[in-house]
Amino acid sequence: MLVLVINSGSSSLKYQLRDVDAAEPESAVLTEGVVERIGFDGGPADHAQALSDLDAALAAVLGDRRIDAVGHRVVHGGERFAEPVLVDNEIIRAIERLNPLAPLHNPANVLGLRAIASKWPDMPQVAVFDTAYHRTLPEHAWRYAVPDWLYTHHGIRRYGFHGTSHQYVAGRAAAFLGVAPEEFDGVVLHLGNGVSATAVQGGKSIDTSMGFTPLEGLVMGTRSGDLDPSILVFLVRQGHSADEIDHLLNRESGLAALAGSNDMRTVVEAADAGDRHAAIALDVASYRLAKYIGGYHVAVGGAAAIVFTAGIGENSAPFRARVAARLGALGVVLDDDLNAVRSKDPRTVSAPESAIPLLVVPTDEERAIAEATAAVVRVAARG
Ligand code: AMP
Repeated sequence: MLVLVINSGSSSLKYQLRDVDAAEPESAVLTEGVVERIGFDGGPADHAQALSDLDAALAAVLGDRRIDAVGHRVVHGGERFAEPVLVDNEIIRAIERLNPLAPLHNPANVLGLRAIASKWPDMPQVAVFDTAYHRTLPEHAWRYAVPDWLYTHHGIRRYGFHGTSHQYVAGRAAAFLGVAPEEFDGVVLHLGNGVSATAVQGGKSIDTSMGFTPLEGLVMGTRSGDLDPSILVFLVRQGHSADEIDHLLNRESGLAALAGSNDMRTVVEAADAGDRHAAIALDVASYRLAKYIGGYHVAVGGAAAIVFTAGIGENSAPFRARVAARLGALGVVLDDDLNAVRSKDPRTVSAPESAIPLLVVPTDEERAIAEATAAVVRVAARG
């Protein structure tokens, strides 16, 4: 089955055409790319035009085969969507009703869904939600200690994000350890531009560091993560607007604020060269992460593994080492040689005597979306 995976942003459209039945994972991707500057000078006028711009690239690899389904990454599934769903008009409207919860992302996802629906009216489309895996959070983990109307009127609760990645990586980690996915207890660390940790118990998400929005939790490339909410009130009283504060905390904070760069490679190099700000940035980020790991180890009743994934988690041996160095109380022991190995395969980076194994398990959100899409379409075809 050929699945076109779409990740539709407000001014960009990322795509990947995958054969979900390919014998070798390396041959699964037929083509991929990104269309940028949608709606800007020199770019396509809208998402529909961005899709027509793809026709040639797709035709070049399709030959006489055809696309069987389209799978979309949708950021917010609210409380309704706990699983990937086959898309129809009602589903698109339901996603649209969630726009206030994800004003930057869901409207763009809806544009992508509608553009495909008008281009190929009979094409099965599946929405795969970033929040869905976290629908199993117990109420004590998702509820904020605030008056109930914030929840009932505004949907203010913790939702969690990066769910597709956390679920995929938890499943792969379980397979690597030789346990059934529903028997896996562990802590999964998605360390990319966005950063989140998930407490996985019995294969299910029972807590996660991102909350109402992807701003809560850990130190990220340009996002602050946790801070005292009174800081926002203080800034409002100082005359800063909602948009300014939004920009400050989502785009100008995190590693960028602390070290002057949001790229972990640059920050590590600067710290190694003696830059004090970069060293502090790494300390803040690794310290916060270690605190969450300790908390989630308790939450899951004892983690069978701590799993690193995404750009930083998979590639930054120095950052993994800084995190591991803070986990001595858990009996964690890193193996420096294993940690230095570069590979695309799941692997152990801790020493045999480590009380909890540290794993590196590469994520692949496109693959997870394509497989989820194929599964939904196959069930629907069976009626
Ligand atoms: P992602 O969002 O998963 O694509 O991760 C992006 C981030 O991963 C980048 O901002 C980098 O900071 C980090 N990254 C990617 N490659 C490396 C590397 N070789 N060493 C350290 N950090 C890396």
